[in-house]
Amino acid sequence: MHSQGLRLASVLLATLVASALRAQEPADLLLLRGRVWTAEANPAWAEAVAVRAGRIVAVGSTNEVEALRGPKTEVIHLGGRLVLPGFIDAHSHLLDGASSLDRVDLSDLPDLGTIQARIEGWARAHPRETWVLGGGWAYASFPGGLPTKQQLDAVVADRPAFIESYDGHSAWANSKALALAGITKATKDPANGVIVRDPGTGEPTGALKEKPAVDLVKVRVPEPGPAEKYQSLLKGLRLLNSFGITSLQDAGLLSPAEDVEADLALLDRARREGRLGLRVTAAVHVEPGKGEASVTLARKLSARYRDPFLRVVGVKLFVDGVVESKTAAMLEPYVGDTGTGLPNWSPEALNAAVTAADREGLQAWLHAIGDRGVRMALDAHEAALRANGRLDRRGRIEHIETLQASDIPRFKPLGVIASMQPLHANPDQNTLGAWAGNLGEERVSRAFSWAPLEKAGARLAFGSDWPVVTPSVLRGLYCAVTRKTKEGTPAGGWRPELAVSLESALRHYTLDAAYASFEESEKGSLEPGKRADLVVVSEDIFKNAPETILKTKVLLTLVDGKAVYRDPTF
Ligand SMILES: [Zn+2]
Repeated sequence: MHSQGLRLASVLLATLVASALRAQEPADLLLLRGRVWTAEANPAWAEAVAVRAGRIVAVGSTNEVEALRGPKTEVIHLGGRLVLPGFIDAHSHLLDGASSLDRVDLSDLPDLGTIQARIEGWARAHPRETWVLGGGWAYASFPGGLPTKQQLDAVVADRPAFIESYDGHSAWANSKALALAGITKATKDPANGVIVRDPGTGEPTGALKEKPAVDLVKVRVPEPGPAEKYQSLLKGLRLLNSFGITSLQDAGLLSPAEDVEADLALLDRARREGRLGLRVTAAVHVEPGKGEASVTLARKLSARYRDPFLRVVGVKLFVDGVVESKTAAMLEPYVGDTGTGLPNWSPEALNAAVTAADREGLQAWLHAIGDRGVRMALDAHEAALRANGRLDRRGRIEHIETLQASDIPRFKPLGVIASMQPLHANPDQNTLGAWAGNLGEERVSRAFSWAPLEKAGARLAFGSDWPVVTPSVLRGLYCAVTRKTKEGTPAGGWRPELAVSLESALRHYTLDAAYASFEESEKGSLEPGKRADLVVVSEDIFKNAPETILKTKVLLTLVDGKAVYRDPTF
């Protein structure tokens, strides 16, 4: 016993000495003389960070950290610049976003005239493209709230054109595209989708609502080849790194082909070639009626992909649609309408699917936008908890655009993450017109209720929903703290009582987002032992906030201590 105890003690001593020596080993990289916001409570602020072998080894004053300087240590003098944990986009669509970079982008265009001009210009500049493809239009840009085939035929008559709405829930097809898809007056609406028709003639107008209808045309669009797809992916990754994004949570791999295994293989190729540049956590889309097969697939993929750069953690289900096209599920009818939206699942089927996924160890991400959709999603997470017991599953609800006040306190006890996207509340013409107009004042008083959810103890994770909106985290931060457009409207902010502080918003884009993917012990804040994922920005956004945020640029993005983006001026 005695000698065994001694041996144990000497092994312990050797370990202690080794780790003490390691702590004194020179760092690979030092960032000195900055303002470092750690996202931790203690210390919240520091001046310098040291990195060795991809991990943070010290955070402290410049003097303390400089002790780790060796002959080969790279040193970056920050000159007082702000350092933040790498941004984590908790809701994005990587491949969709990447492919949108090669298509006509209508986002930020105010009206039909400018939209038509851009499409015409793009078509002229791309004469060899067999289809004119694009996205980004907002409902409020069209008289009546939806586009028509005639408006598109007027600028693209020689080939099919197919352009998705900014939220991806609706699409706009010209006559050639409708003909290719065989959509006529006689075509029946698919389940959970609408082929919008002229009330007089019954002819399809060219607008399609919700995925099953959108897909009638989308499946005819030729898929880009793997080489082309890979090039757009790399372009997309470079863009995200330039915005300071070091991790991304993919809300259901919804590439045009919806071949999730092929999509993951593409990301895996980038990972193996060392070109991924950010960490991806993904969920696999589950369609109603296909629950069992999708859960089996998600389980298989979660066993295959468990690398720090590529992991499959769960499943994504669409409980409802969107407010603008009145497909989000509401408890009471839309303004000026008798409809209450279109839940894609019955409560029983949803509860069963979420419970089954949870039982298999998969995190369930539930897209829910209307107050009824959100309630159904909370009920489904509660059903899983009741059936399976309290497992650390961190069920999620995506979007939560409006909800009943009585549902706000349910998030915390259920441990459900509120995954929300600040720029969805960007108070532009679309939000204040089409969105708010469909809901009416009472429900708008709980529009994107970040602050009340925070107060009720819910954990919020912030993201973009790229390509629905720009993946710029700085733009999202500005909206989260001001509830204003980048033009500064409305003057006092839209429902400013629902906004959050800059520190909270940053935490939702970093440490809380890391929690949402079960990685809060690995990343999301700047503390020794964590991965060296961090960003340096041009302005101190804590000073002269919030206007400073809009002129702030990302200067340097590090992943595992390696620069994946560096501004040429830095
Ligand atoms: Zn999404």
